[in-house]
Amino acid sequence: MLTQEKIDQLALQIGGELAVEIVRFLLENGENISEFLIAEKLGISINQIRKTMYLLQENNLVSSMRKKDKKKGWYIYYWTFSNIQAHTLITRMKQERISNLKKRLELETMTNYFTCKKGCIRMAFERALENNFTCTECNSILKEVDNSKRIKIIKEELGLLEAPEKVIEEPEKAEAAA
Ligand SMILES: [Zn+2]
Repeated sequence: MLTQEKIDQLALQIGGELAVEIVRFLLENGENISEFLIAEKLGISINQIRKTMYLLQENNLVSSMRKKDKKKGWYIYYWTFSNIQAHTLITRMKQERISNLKKRLELETMTNYFTCKKGCIRMAFERALENNFTCTECNSILKEVDNSKRIKIIKEELGLLEAPEKVIEEPEKAEAAA
């Protein structure tokens, strides 16, 4: 499900704070929104808008239509936000995050890590052995790291990401079920 929060996050990753503002404005105002209207309402320049829009367009998150201003002789762009593409991108980003977390989890579970008291560097057993269990930064002795906390955090995030989305039940349905 597309929530405002998810759309904001997506826009932020692609085009920064300005992209969040512009996308919100497009969502509130419908299709084919003139760049001049965006510039006027948000108090930003046409150049700033175009720069941000190109970033969003590269990801197919917005589409544009251009029309020639007959009086002034220049082109004006009209922008529309794509819900379908946003949904696809959000799903893809979530899948990537899950797969990265799974890789990290496997690594953390399979590897014994070592570090010194100060925590200068974390190294796997083989590298610690090569260095005679001595920190390459401060020369103090390396001890095995308890990474159970790290593993727990990864598992928790995975649990949240893989949980089915909560669907808010419509009042009519709730009544019918009762
Ligand atoms: Zn050290």
